[in-house]
Formats: sequence, C-alpha cells, structure tokens
Amino acid sequence: MVQKNLIAGAWVEGPDAVKNINPSDTDDVIDSYARADQAQVNEAVAAAKAAFPAWSTGPIQARATMLAAVAAEIMARKEELGELLAREEGKTRPEGIGEVMRAGQIFEFFAGEVVRQSGEKIASVRPGIDVEMTREPMGVVGLITPWNFPIAIPAWKIAPALAYGNCVVIKPAELVPASTHALAEIIHRAGVPEGVFSLVMGKGSVVGETLVNHPDVAAISFTGSVDTGKRIAAGCAARLAKVQLEMGGKNPLVVLDDADLDTAVDCALNGAFFSTGQRCTASSRLVVQKGIHDSFVDALTQKMQALKVDNALAEGSQMGPVIDQSQLDQDLNYIEIGRGEGARLAWGGELLNRATPGFYLQPALFTETDNKMRINQEEIFGPVASVIAVDDYDQALDVANDTPFGLSSGICTGSLKYASHFKRNAQAGMVMVNLPTAGVDYHVPFGGRKGSSYGSREQGRYAAEFYTTVKTGYTLPL
Ligand code: NDP
Repeated sequence: MVQKNLIAGAWVEGPDAVKNINPSDTDDVIDSYARADQAQVNEAVAAAKAAFPAWSTGPIQARATMLAAVAAEIMARKEELGELLAREEGKTRPEGIGEVMRAGQIFEFFAGEVVRQSGEKIASVRPGIDVEMTREPMGVVGLITPWNFPIAIPAWKIAPALAYGNCVVIKPAELVPASTHALAEIIHRAGVPEGVFSLVMGKGSVVGETLVNHPDVAAISFTGSVDTGKRIAAGCAARLAKVQLEMGGKNPLVVLDDADLDTAVDCALNGAFFSTGQRCTASSRLVVQKGIHDSFVDALTQKMQALKVDNALAEGSQMGPVIDQSQLDQDLNYIEIGRGEGARLAWGGELLNRATPGFYLQPALFTETDNKMRINQEEIFGPVASVIAVDDYDQALDVANDTPFGLSSGICTGSLKYASHFKRNAQAGMVMVNLPTAGVDYHVPFGGRKGSSYGSREQGRYAAEFYTTVKTGYTLPL
C-alpha cells in the first residue's frame, strides 16, 4: 500500500512512491510513501493561499482547540508513534518515545500561545494620535525538515505556523516520511480546514525546490545541511521571501580540571553518542584540560565500551544504527580522514553485526587531535567525537569558538567564575553548564550563530518573529 500525500484536504497518490527502510533491519520495509510532483506542490500552495483569509481571521478559540487536540492525540499515542519513529530513524525506542512526547508538548504550548498573542499600544510623538503594534501571519509558509528528528522538528515548525494563523505546506525528508505522515493524519483528524495544512512528501530537488521558488510561499523554514540551506537562502533572496535556516554544528564540550568527572563523562557520552551522534547539537569536540585529560578519556572509553549498540527496538539498546549507507560511508570516511591526519583512534569505529542487518557502528573516540584537523572543523553527523587537549581555560575558550559553526557550546566546571565567563563569551546560540550540548527545553528559543543558523530563532515565543509580520497602526480619534 502507498501512504498518500495530503493536498487541499484530500489524500492523494503521486506519480511514484519511495520505500521507507528500517535502518536497524534493512529487510523491514515500513511502507511506501507517495512522492509529490511539481504540479501537486503547486496545488497544495494554491489551496493554502485560498484557505488563508478565513483561517487567519477566523476564531482563535477554534485554532487553539485544534492544536490542543493534536497535542492530546500525539501524547496518548506516544508508545506507538515512538516505536514507528525508532523503526524509521534508528534512534532507540525510549528516545523515539521522548521525541514524540516533545512533539506533543510543543503543540500544547502553541495551543496556549494562540490565545496569548498580544500587541503594544503607545502614545504617538504627535499629539492626540494613538500608535499600536500588532502581529499578523505571513501567509503560506513552506516547511522543509531533515531526517534526524522526524516528528519534533516538523512539530516545532507546524505548531507555531498554525498558531499564528499561517497556512502550511510541509515537506519531510524522504528518508523518514512515516512520522510526519502520522502527524499529518492527526492534524487532519483534529479538523484543520481544507488547504490550511498540506503534506507533500518527495524529493528535495523537486518538492523542496518548488516550494522555495513558489511566488505564493511567503516564508520558508528549513532545517538541514549547510549546503542545502545556502541554496534555499539564495532562492528565497532572489524573490525576497522570508527565510529561516537551522543547520549543522561542531559543538564543543569544555571539560576543566575542576569538573566533576562523572558529570563530565556523562555529558560527553550523552552529547556525543546518544541518538547515534546524529544531532545538530551533538558534542563532537571534547575540549579537555590536561590535568583531567587521562582520567576523563579512560572513564569515557569505559562507558563507550559498555554502551549497548543494537536494533533501535531491541530491549536495552542504548544506541541504534546510523540512518543509512551513505551516512555510514561518511562516518567511516571521516574515521579514515582522522587517522590520516594523525589523530589516535582511542576506541571504537568498527562496523558491528547484529541479529538483523543494519548500519551498526561502534561509537568512536579520537584523542591527540588538533582543532585545525578536518575531523574537528567539519560536521561528521555520526557517533564520532574527538578529544582536544588544552592547557587552561583561556585556550579552551579559544578552541571552543574556533569553528565555522555556533549552535551549542558546553562547559563542565565547578567554578562559577569560568562558568559565567564561558556563558558570556561562547560564540553559540545555546550554552550549557554541566549539561550535555544536546537536550533543550521546548518553550525557549532554539538556534545558533555563524554557519549554524540564519534568520530568527525557532521555538518558544520567539517563533513569532518568523511566523508573523509586524504592523504599526496610527489612529487619530475623531
Ligand atoms: P539536507 O540538507 O540534505 O536535507 C534537509 C531537507 O532539505 C530534506 O527534507 C531534503 O529533502 C531537503 N532538500 C534537499 N535538497 C533541497 C533543495 N535543493 N531544495 C529544497 N529542499 C531540499 O539535510 P539532512 O536531511 O541530510 O539532515 C542532516 C543535516 O541537517 C545535518 O547537517 C545536520 O547538522 C542538520 N540538522 C540541523 C539541525 C538544526 O536545527 N540546526 C537539526 C537537524 C539536522 P530530501 O532529503 O528528502 O531530498
């Protein structure tokens, strides 16, 4: 059976379909998913444009009720949806369930935001005139999402988009259509009117490009790789469309001599290897002061050796497979690059066989690395981390900031002085003290600096910056 796209309120097949393969068991085909063509994307945009006037000015209580219903169904089905997510993406079942809960919480948050929208009213500099600032929705927004968070990232784009009165056309990554498809069914069932929300699965080069270049799409929110992000930004700039990009990371975790060793090791293990290291916020650079270096490396390698790498759905599995063959090839290639650059592979990096055929890779740790090495400058996006030894805090901060990225930056220390200085001087959108670089709250802004992000922040109330435009109104009461 082919799972269909949702276009103009109807479930429709496309000219072809793609199989969704379980990375933990490549014999397991989850289902086939329709690929939309350009004409179908145009149809979805036209339906969204037609639906916008009524949706954007309609009763906000209805909007809030719909988003709350979406939240409730997601959370009620967290086990089933979490398993589906783990099956298609390869993160472990508990991680999958956690991500589904996160998606539900995001919808719950934005259901509340619908009725909390407000403006400002101030006195004019001209006598007798009132000035007010209000926010209005953008119109039709195109959402393009990556494979590593198949329900949370769609949720944190769709929920604010709808809450603030926009109409949505979303394109998930082809590798993981099932979770977004399940979310689309829930949104449809919650009674979102025809055309307000459309799902167009398919290739980035067809569906994504059509959305980016469509004159009726007012804004594009994208999460994915830097190369695709730059291409999308150029496409949006050419027609002056609003754009928001969330891209890669090369996030440092600084470990100072005065850190609590267990905390630092747990932060590194979680940040570098959980979710198979396939998180934009993963701690891929461990910047470790020399006094604690050896005990840190010993303790971390021991924990890595104990980490159970297995089928995402296997009982007790702590790290699932890599998403697919091409990402696995990229990870292995970087391990070779690291060795070639003179880094020492302290542990891991071997392919693993498990009961089911999948893309299993041991977590890998390089030591004796230099921050200038390619393995420390380029995003690997797998379970591969490097230790960079430093003399003191000042050098640690320099190394942490010496990267083209700036998403998340962490420090493990018992010193308030260093923690405070680091929080102020880390060149990143998010900073963590005695916490992993990955793992964030849903009600506060998410995003980075430099090559990691472009445009306004996602999530929390800051999402309004992207999904609305400001209007300044002047009134002379007669
Ligand atoms: P890609 O950039 O390859 O793809 C992201 C999305 O863009 C997919 O839906 C893809 O479609 C689509 N796409 C591809 N080409 C185009 C195009 N020409 N025009 C429009 N859309 C297009 O990234 P990945 O999915 O491989 O995700 C991994 C990357 O995402 C990593 O670099 C990671 O760091 C980053 N990422 C960043 C996050 C953040 O918030 N900062 C969060 C998660 C990931 P399709 O693949 O279906 O062809």
